[in-house]
Amino acid sequence: MTTDKLQRLKDLLGEVWDIHMAAAVLGWDQETYMPPAGAQARGQQLSTLGRIAHLKFTSEEIGRLLEDLAPEAADWDPDSDEARLVKVTRREYLKATKVPPDFVAESAKVASRAMMAWREAKAKADFSIFEPHLARIVELRQEYANFFAPYEHIYDPLLDDFEPGLKTADVQRIFNALRPQQVALVRAIAERPQVDDAFLHQPFDQQKQWEFGVEVITKFGFDWQRGRQDKSAHPFTTSFSVNDVRITTRIDPNYIGTGLFGTMHECGHALYELGVAPELERTPLGHGASLAIHESQSRLWENLVGRSRPFWEHFYPRLQETFPAQLGNIPRETFYKGINRVQPSLIRTEADEATYNLHIMLRLELEIALLEGTVAVKDLPEAWNAKMKEYLGVVPSDDAQGVLQDIHWSMGSIGYFSTYALGNLISAQWWECIQADIPNLNDQIRNGEFGDLLAWLREHIHRHGAKFEPQELVEKVTGRGIDPAPYMRYLYAKYGEIYALEQ
Ligand code: MG
Repeated sequence: MTTDKLQRLKDLLGEVWDIHMAAAVLGWDQETYMPPAGAQARGQQLSTLGRIAHLKFTSEEIGRLLEDLAPEAADWDPDSDEARLVKVTRREYLKATKVPPDFVAESAKVASRAMMAWREAKAKADFSIFEPHLARIVELRQEYANFFAPYEHIYDPLLDDFEPGLKTADVQRIFNALRPQQVALVRAIAERPQVDDAFLHQPFDQQKQWEFGVEVITKFGFDWQRGRQDKSAHPFTTSFSVNDVRITTRIDPNYIGTGLFGTMHECGHALYELGVAPELERTPLGHGASLAIHESQSRLWENLVGRSRPFWEHFYPRLQETFPAQLGNIPRETFYKGINRVQPSLIRTEADEATYNLHIMLRLELEIALLEGTVAVKDLPEAWNAKMKEYLGVVPSDDAQGVLQDIHWSMGSIGYFSTYALGNLISAQWWECIQADIPNLNDQIRNGEFGDLLAWLREHIHRHGAKFEPQELVEKVTGRGIDPAPYMRYLYAKYGEIYALEQ
C-alpha cells in the first residue's frame, strides 16, 4: 500500500526533523544567551542529538521504505511534493549511509583540534602552527570525496553537500567568465576619484541602530509573531519551524553599516524560511533549496534593495531624523555613494559588492588545488598572496590578514565558499525577472512598499522549499541556468554611474 508506506516514511522523517529542530534551539541558545561555562555540556548535548538523528535517518526501515516506494514514485507527477520527497530523501539517504560513523567522529576530533590551532596561528600570524592540521583536514576531505567515487572531479562530492547537483566544472565555467570582467571593473574604479564614507564611521547609539533595523525589516515583511531577533557575535539565521524563524544581528557602536546591512541580510534568509509551504514541514523538503539560493535571498534584500537609491529615497529622511548629529548635514546622494564605496581590501567579510566575488574565486581555486594536490598546504600562503595581488591588487602584510583570516577550513568545511558568490549572481538573475514582472517596483520601494516583491519571491522561490535542485530552480524561474551576465550588468550600471566610468 503506497499511501501507508508514504505515511510511514513521513512519520519517521518527521521524528528526525524534530530532533534536528530541538538541536537547532540548543545551537541558537549557545550563540545568544548561554553562559560561557555551559559550553562543554552543550557540546555533548548537540553531539548526542546529532548521533540519534543520524541513526534514525540511516535506519534500515527508512532504506526499505525508499526502495519500496521508488518504482511507484517513478509514475507520479515528477514535480509533485510526494515524488520530490522520495527523490530528495533517497539522495540524502544514500549520501548519509556511505560515510562510516568512525570517519565522522575522526573528522570532528580533527576539526576541534584544528580550530584551536587556527586561533593560535591567527593570533600569532604564524601559518606553520596551523599547517599540519590543515594538511590532515585536506586528507580527510579527499577521503570523504572517495566515498562517492566515481566522480568527474574530486571536488564534486564536497560541493554537492551544499549545492545538490552542481558540478565543479559548472562553477569553474561560471567563474572563468566572471573573473576577468570583475577584475576589469575593479581596476577601472580604482582609477577614478574615491567617494567619501567617513561619515559612516562615527559613534551611533546602539539602541537607535537596533530600532532602525527593526523598522526596516518590519516593512520588508518580517513577521514578529513567527520570528524574533537577538544579538550574537556572528549574525546568523536559524529555523525551528515554518512558524519560528530566528535571526541575530551585531551592532558596531562606531560604524552604522554592520548592523544596518547585517540585519537586512539575515532578514532575507528568514523571509525565505518563513515562506516555505507549511505542507513541506517535517520533511527533508521543508527548508531552503541550497546555500547559494539562500544567499540569493539575503543578498537581494541587503544589496539590490538595501543599497539602492529608491530604498534610501524612502528611508534616508528617517535615518537622518534618528541620527541628526551624524547625518543631518550629509546629503542623501553622498550617503548613497558612501554605502556603495568600492575599495579592494584584504578581508572578505568587509568586502563591497564589486570586490566580494574575487575573494570567493580565490578561495575556490585554492580549495580545488588543495584537493587535486596541485598546491601543497605548505605553499598555500604564497599562492594566496599571489592571487590577492592578481585579482585585487593588494597583498597582506602577514598571514593573519591573508590565508588565516577565515575560520572555515579549520572547521573542516571545504566546499561551500563558492555558494556566496553564486548567491550574488543568482540574486541579480531574480532581480531582472522581478523588474520585468513588477514594472513599478522602484516606485513601490520609494514608497516603502515591499509586499509585491515578497509575494513574488514566495510564489517563485520560497514556497518550493528544497523540492528543486538549485540549477533546476534557477532555470525554472529565469529560463536559464546560473549566469553571471545579469550580475555584471547590475554592477556596471550601478558603479558606472557612481564612479562615472566610461562605458
Ligand atoms: Mg548569509
